[in-house]
Amino acid sequence: MSTATVDPRLSPSPLALGHFIEGEHVAGAPGGRHGTVYDPATGTVRARVAFANADETAVAIAAAKAAAPAWAATPPLKRARILFRYKELIEQHHDELARLITLEHGKVLSDAHGEVTRGLEVVEFACGIPQLLKGEFSENVGAGIDSWSLRQPLGVCAGITPFNFPAMVPLWMFPVAIACGNTFVLKPSEKDPSCPLRLAELLTEAGLPAGVFNVVNGDREAVDTLLGHPDVAAVTFVGSTPVAEHIHRTASQHGKRVQALGGAKNHMVVMPDADVELAANALLGAAYGSAGERCMAISVAVTVGGIADPLVASLQKKLATLRVGSGLESEVEMGPLVTREHRDKVRGYLDIGVAEGAKLIVDGRQHAVSNAQHGFFLGPSLFDGVRRDMRIYREEIFGPVLAIVRAGSLAEVLELVNTHEFGNGTSIFTNDGRAAREFAHGVAAGMVGINVPIPVPMAFHSFGGWKRSLFGDTHVHGPEGVRFYTRLKTVTSRWPTSGAGTAEFVMPTMK
Ligand code: NAD
Repeated sequence: MSTATVDPRLSPSPLALGHFIEGEHVAGAPGGRHGTVYDPATGTVRARVAFANADETAVAIAAAKAAAPAWAATPPLKRARILFRYKELIEQHHDELARLITLEHGKVLSDAHGEVTRGLEVVEFACGIPQLLKGEFSENVGAGIDSWSLRQPLGVCAGITPFNFPAMVPLWMFPVAIACGNTFVLKPSEKDPSCPLRLAELLTEAGLPAGVFNVVNGDREAVDTLLGHPDVAAVTFVGSTPVAEHIHRTASQHGKRVQALGGAKNHMVVMPDADVELAANALLGAAYGSAGERCMAISVAVTVGGIADPLVASLQKKLATLRVGSGLESEVEMGPLVTREHRDKVRGYLDIGVAEGAKLIVDGRQHAVSNAQHGFFLGPSLFDGVRRDMRIYREEIFGPVLAIVRAGSLAEVLELVNTHEFGNGTSIFTNDGRAAREFAHGVAAGMVGINVPIPVPMAFHSFGGWKRSLFGDTHVHGPEGVRFYTRLKTVTSRWPTSGAGTAEFVMPTMK
């Protein structure tokens, strides 16, 4: 990892951020709309980011369309070589990218480094594209007839990404898409756009031809342009469930291939035989890491039997010493929330939970935070006695708030988890292999951990949820990503030696 490069976006003065189209930075249209990007640890304005209108978005789509034929015709081995260079550049700029994340998202720097690494792993996966695109061949499917299947790119693909992983989530998408021979338009979150723009610059530096990867910043106007544009073949979305549903419906109506990953309410089950300290430590990181702003964060702990009291006591003790502050300070374990509005929304759930009758065992509003005057901070909170009818149980809070639900049996747990609206990730802590197997087999969620609190699949597997955590059929990256960003063609071939043959009016079959 290098700390040598100093990017101007690391400087404290407000920046003007535009788009990245055809290998170059493009300023927003004069007089156009824009958003404000904050440093959540200080509450200061870091940047103004241009919001692309429909015409500006169409320019990016046109650039991607123009670049598509030559890029699709570039041999996969050559595409892979550019990705190998990209991998090296991300490694060299690891620290710079992580700092950009911390400065605009707020998560602690070590966690931001972890995010860059998990994104880098998708680039590493995509470097194997010549192998991944190998098709299937059958000799002699009929007399003198051969048949083979191959996968070809779709054309222009679009990605729309959330604020909580400004590097990793875009990297779930575009390395695989462009490795498969597609071109790409990314619409990152307007809350932390600097890291995605830097990722685009590095791709150009790696030798990617202009127009293959483009970034438009903006909001719904840019997104709706991508969803309705006839030259966009496929859309990958990651964000909240209401928007995911809108994206899936609208893009589908326009005949596009679409995968839309939505929100979550991830349950971690703690069985009576589990190690209390192990489970408490796992919960601490999984519920409060990145201030709970992870789609795989654990927001509900379901205890079975008598383990609830010692677990709650242990959590309460550990939370008292959790260090909250600026993500750039090395001792800090939890940073601020992304915006003031989001912090206030999460705080609001503390009042809602109390009004609903849950016991607020740890109140994050009382937690000591260093230099908190202007940052968007909220300490960790813990609710006990949470019931399934409460809003704090049903709704995604997306902040440092953990709910304890007490259950009596594994069967009850399975019924609870399986009837929840969301089904992203879930985990079970136990020493009982049979209980773990029963849970993994029967639970309605896309990703399951056994004594692993956040079971995020590696880049060479695929990531995705069930129920209202994913709209569409395929998960992202890994083998499912390659399938999503390619379409199958099957060729049947015969080279007759002589003669015109005879007309055949019946279905050809093997006799
Ligand atoms: P969000 O849905 O508000 O925004 C996501 C993207 O959609 C952004 O680029 C935003 O500009 C755009 N957008 C917002 N409203 C829109 C609208 N009405 N029409 C069109 N586009 C719109 O999500 P967020 O707050 O940035 O991110 C947090 C959410 O993302 C949480 O719900 C979290 O669970 C989810 N998430 C899910 C996963 C997953 O893998 N399932 C991963 C990360 C985050």
